[in-house]
Amino acid sequence: MKISHKIRLVIFLSIALGLALALTFLLAQRRIDSAVAQGRQLSLLTAEIFQLTLLGQDVALHPEELRAPNQWLKQHRELGELLYRVRLDDPQDGAVLEKLREAHGYQLRLFEDLQLLSRQQKESGATAIGRERLERLAYRMSFSAQSMLSNALALEQRKRGEISGYRREIDRIALGLAGIMTSVIAALAYLIGRSITLPLARLRRETEIIGAGNLGHRVGTADNDELGDLSRDFDRMLDRLQAVTASREDLQHEVEARIRVEQALRESERSLKKAQAIARMGSWEWDIPSGRLRWSDETYRIFGRQPGHDSPSHEAFLDTVHPDDRPLVARSMEGALRGENYDIEHRIRLPGGEVRVVHQIGEVEFDDAGKPVKMLGTVHDPSGRPVRMLGTVHDITERKRAEDELRRANERLGAQLMEIERLRAILQEQAIHDPLTGLFNRRYMEETLAREFAGAERENYPVSLVMVDIDHFKRVNDTYGHQAGDMVLTDLSETLSGHIRGRDIACRYGGEEFLAVLPHTPIEVAAHRAELWRASFEALELEYEGQTFRATISLGVAAFPAHGTTSQAVLAAADKALYAAKAGGRNRIVVAD
Ligand code: GH3
Ligand code: MG
Ligand code: MG
Repeated sequence: MKISHKIRLVIFLSIALGLALALTFLLAQRRIDSAVAQGRQLSLLTAEIFQLTLLGQDVALHPEELRAPNQWLKQHRELGELLYRVRLDDPQDGAVLEKLREAHGYQLRLFEDLQLLSRQQKESGATAIGRERLERLAYRMSFSAQSMLSNALALEQRKRGEISGYRREIDRIALGLAGIMTSVIAALAYLIGRSITLPLARLRRETEIIGAGNLGHRVGTADNDELGDLSRDFDRMLDRLQAVTASREDLQHEVEARIRVEQALRESERSLKKAQAIARMGSWEWDIPSGRLRWSDETYRIFGRQPGHDSPSHEAFLDTVHPDDRPLVARSMEGALRGENYDIEHRIRLPGGEVRVVHQIGEVEFDDAGKPVKMLGTVHDPSGRPVRMLGTVHDITERKRAEDELRRANERLGAQLMEIERLRAILQEQAIHDPLTGLFNRRYMEETLAREFAGAERENYPVSLVMVDIDHFKRVNDTYGHQAGDMVLTDLSETLSGHIRGRDIACRYGGEEFLAVLPHTPIEVAAHRAELWRASFEALELEYEGQTFRATISLGVAAFPAHGTTSQAVLAAADKALYAAKAGGRNRIVVAD
């Protein structure tokens, strides 16, 4: 049962009991009022009768005088009216009242008799009998009046008793009804209170569990009253709260994630600013339809402008560009708006007049179906409208200077390298050539000989060696001087150089000794050629400072593999043959045995 129904029941019962009580009171009060009204009439009646008794006593005391008969009559009239006006419910009282009416009638008759007798006494003279009859009549009147008074007083007394009885009865009824009402209301209040407080206590226990943080807990009740509704509403609210909490947690996670992203973004922006400052590279963003331009802090710095003081604009940028480079920048910009790459180096002029060099790379975005048409590094043919241009500006002044410096240094270095190479080549030449004759020197010859012999051994071909020595050279020196000796050495070397062929090598072996290496040349051929050389040289007429003379040479020939498989062995054989040639006197060419 609903609590409101229970409360309505209590209210209804209270009203019913209250109405019953009020009705009882009303009825009792009406009875009391009626009794009181009757009591008042009876009091009046008693007072009237009391007056009558006083008049009766006066008549009894002076029967023959009959004083104030009119007042007596008036009194009786009023009493008569009163007696017929009074209504008494109780039959016993009614009987007494009837008696009083009869007594009143009796009084009137006695009074008439008295008046008559009194008149007779006056008219016919007072008699003792008349006087006695008068006294008796007066006595009867007085006695009757007193009897009436007694009855009236008794009636009034009874009425008072009746009123008191009514009042006590009302008190009893009121007390009883009030007790019943109080008990019923108390009992009902207790029962209703219990039916409210017990579920309330349970609800409180359950809500304490939930309040402790266990949002998954439910009150769960099957009660059909308002507390049951409240519990179910509470459970539904918890369901929603849980859903809201879950979504709020999701939201919280999302907010935290966003905060992290924003922090990372701020960090990245700080890093970007720092990186831009370190790299001296700024960035800019140009909203083409509105013409709004945004410069990064580093861009302001590169252009020599103050953030907050100078506002970025396309005009401000063009104003910064060096006048000579403005056509280039304008062309590149127009190209970029057609979808071409924007990648230029140009000069800028700072407000102070300083000229610096910047490198700019930019990219335009077009509103073609919401997609950027131009992707990094790829030029497209945009059909959309250019909406935005992003770019970087890099202060490359120092780099340019360094590059120029480097280029100049490279040029210098190149020249130096060429000189070194030239010198190295000369040095190399000098290292393997004899400075006087220009022939290969002995060191080179030894290296070549070893290489040649290895090849010959591998490929099995002959290598002949011809050792040449100027005869009595010391004497030339002594006779014509060292310079003449040098000339002879040069002439011989020229003769040798003029006669050797292909892969043949002639070198100055030492002092006035020479060696010719003839690969792929059999010893007979070598001997023949040696003879040719000797003849050619000895045919020369040498001239030094006006003096002419001739010189002769001796030659020793040996060959690989006939006279040895190593260069030393063949050399030794050739040397030995040369020694033999010198010792032979006329036969100055000796082929080794
Ligand atoms: P032989 O007939 O036995 O070969 O006697 P030679 O005088 O030719 O030979 P020797 O070994 O006795 O003397 C060689 C001389 O060659 C000694 C040296 O002063 C001279 N000589 C060596 N190198 C040079 C040089 O570059 N220029 C000049 N002018 N003379 C040199
Ligand atoms: Mg010699
Ligand atoms: Mg010699």
